[in-house]
Amino acid sequence: MGGIARTSELRVAGVSEGAIADAVADGVLVRVRRGTYASAETPALLRHALAHGGALCCASAAAHHGLWVLDPEAALHVWLGPNGRAHAADGCRPRVHRDEGRHPRGIVSPRVAVRQMLDCIGAEAFFCALESGLRHRILGAADVAWLREHVPRTHRWLVDLARKDADSGLESLIRLRLHLLGIEVRTQVRIGGVGVVDFVVGDRLILEADGSTHGGDHRHRDLVRDAVATVLGFVTLRYDYALIVHDWPLVEDAILSALGRGLHRSSGIPRRPF
Ligand SMILES: [Zn+2]
Ligand SMILES: [Zn+2]
Repeated sequence: MGGIARTSELRVAGVSEGAIADAVADGVLVRVRRGTYASAETPALLRHALAHGGALCCASAAAHHGLWVLDPEAALHVWLGPNGRAHAADGCRPRVHRDEGRHPRGIVSPRVAVRQMLDCIGAEAFFCALESGLRHRILGAADVAWLREHVPRTHRWLVDLARKDADSGLESLIRLRLHLLGIEVRTQVRIGGVGVVDFVVGDRLILEADGSTHGGDHRHRDLVRDAVATVLGFVTLRYDYALIVHDWPLVEDAILSALGRGLHRSSGIPRRPF
């Protein structure tokens, strides 16, 4: 039964009231709410959603499936179906989803979770979750085709822009935001002597997102990379997670200013004077 059953289903399967009580006493079954039981192995988040009367969905399900979600703890997203009743379980107020469907195992599929994120959280969250799913092979070609069919026509371009080689959610976020500014980037570019950098714009503008591929605790190594890149004629702009997520307008201004001054083009650079 996928680890979740109603009392009526257990009765049909020949499990008596007494046997259910024994299983609960032994810790094999957990009574999630009146008339609904879960096996002890059912993850706590799924049991939490069940306690509220539904299945884990949207960002909560996406995070549980291993997709990238910016703030998975922000809220519990529970699918109740069109007519399901929300149960007050523990004082928390889950975000309720009421789209059609059937999710008998207590959690929606990865592709349904991603689709729900588009309406509930937004295009960026949708895109980042989608790219992380492709990267980690949680989503495949069939899911991409399904999503193309199931998102509004105006959002299909997001599905088409998604790639399977994004290294982190932060990288997906930056690439999407730059795309919306009309800036195309190359990602994960290997530069001899420097290593692999997150993004290159034009011929020589490097964008690095600290905390995406190589953590924030490698400051010295990053400074060496930047110095080598400068010697080779590159310009490096480096931003951390907090700037990208919480102060994007400043990052955007900085990048646009650099592009406005042509720092991404190699034509017109004087030869090295030594
Ligand atoms: Zn949601
Ligand atoms: Zn709750």
